[in-house]
Amino acid sequence: MESDQPSATGNLTRRKFVASAAVAPFVLRFGLRRPAADHVVVVGAGAFGGWTALTLLRAGMRVTLVDAWGAGNSRASSGGETRVIRTVYNGNALYSQMAARAFTLWREAEQHWKRQVLFRTGALWMCETDDSYGRRSIQPMKAVGLSVEEMTPSEAGRRYPQMGFHDVRTAFFEPEAGYLTARVACELVRETVVREGGTYQQASVRPGAGAGRRVRSSATAREISSGREDGRDHRIG
Ligand SMILES: Cc1cc2nc3c(=O)[nH]c(=O)nc-3n(C[C@H](O)[C@H](O)[C@H](O)COP(=O)(O)OP(=O)(O)OC[C@H]3O[C@@H](n4cnc5c(N)ncnc54)[C@H](O)[C@@H]3O)c2cc1C
Repeated sequence: MESDQPSATGNLTRRKFVASAAVAPFVLRFGLRRPAADHVVVVGAGAFGGWTALTLLRAGMRVTLVDAWGAGNSRASSGGETRVIRTVYNGNALYSQMAARAFTLWREAEQHWKRQVLFRTGALWMCETDDSYGRRSIQPMKAVGLSVEEMTPSEAGRRYPQMGFHDVRTAFFEPEAGYLTARVACELVRETVVREGGTYQQASVRPGAGAGRRVRSSATAREISSGREDGRDHRIG
C-alpha cells in the first residue's frame, strides 16, 4: 500500500494515490484504472463517490460527479445528520489506517471550508466477557498514532461515576472518535468538486452492458429518454 511503484492508477504512484484519499483502498480494490481518456465519471455523490471525485480531480483528471438525488440525500447511506467516526475495528489494521487518514483529510477540509464537520467526543467501549474486539485493535491503532486507553471496571467507574460497570470486564476509550455532520459534509465535498473545476450533474445513471466485473457503458436518464442508449460509451455533461 505504501509502495511508490507505478500502480494501477497509471501515471499516479500508489503512494501519491493512497496518500490523497481515505477512500483510495476502496477504489484500488475495485480495480479502477486511469482511463485512456482522462475524463472520469463518478456515479454517486455520497461519502465514497464525493471523495473519489475530489481525489481524482486533484490528481489532474477531468471529473464529472453524478447523483440522482443530490449529495448526502436522504435516500443515501451518507444522508442524515450524523455518522460516527471511530478507529477501534477488531484489529483490522486497514480500517484503523483509513480512519486515521480520514481524520487528517476532514481536518484539512475543515480548514479549507472554515467550517467544522468533525466533532470529537471520544468513544467508550464496554466489553462484557470477551474484550478481544477492543484488545486486538490496540496495536494497529498505535501503529498509526491513535491513542486508546484501557480501563478496569473500577477505573472506569471512578471516571464515569454516573454509569454502572458491574457487568463490564474491560473498558476501552478512544479519545479521537466522534461524529461527522454527514449530509452537510457530502454537500461541501460536492461543492468543492465544482469549485475546483469538476462538473456535477444531477441525473440517474443506468449501467450498460457488463463484461466480467467491468461495466462497458453507461447512460444518463436524459440520454436514455432521448433514444441515445445504443450500448456505446457516452460522454456525460
Ligand atoms: C442508518 C445508517 C447508519 C450508519 N451509521 C454509520 C456510522 O455511524 N458510521 C459509519 O462510519 N458508517 C455508518 N454507516 C455506513 C455509512 O453511512 C456508509 O458506509 C456510507 O455512507 C456509504 O457511502 P457511499 O458513498 O458508498 O453510498 P451512498 O451514501 O449511499 O451514496 C450512493 C449515492 O449514489 C447515488 N446513486 C445510486 N444509484 C444511482 C444511479 N443509478 N444514478 C445516479 N446516482 C445514483 C445515490 O443517490 C447516493 O447519493 C451507516 C449507514 C446507515 C444506512
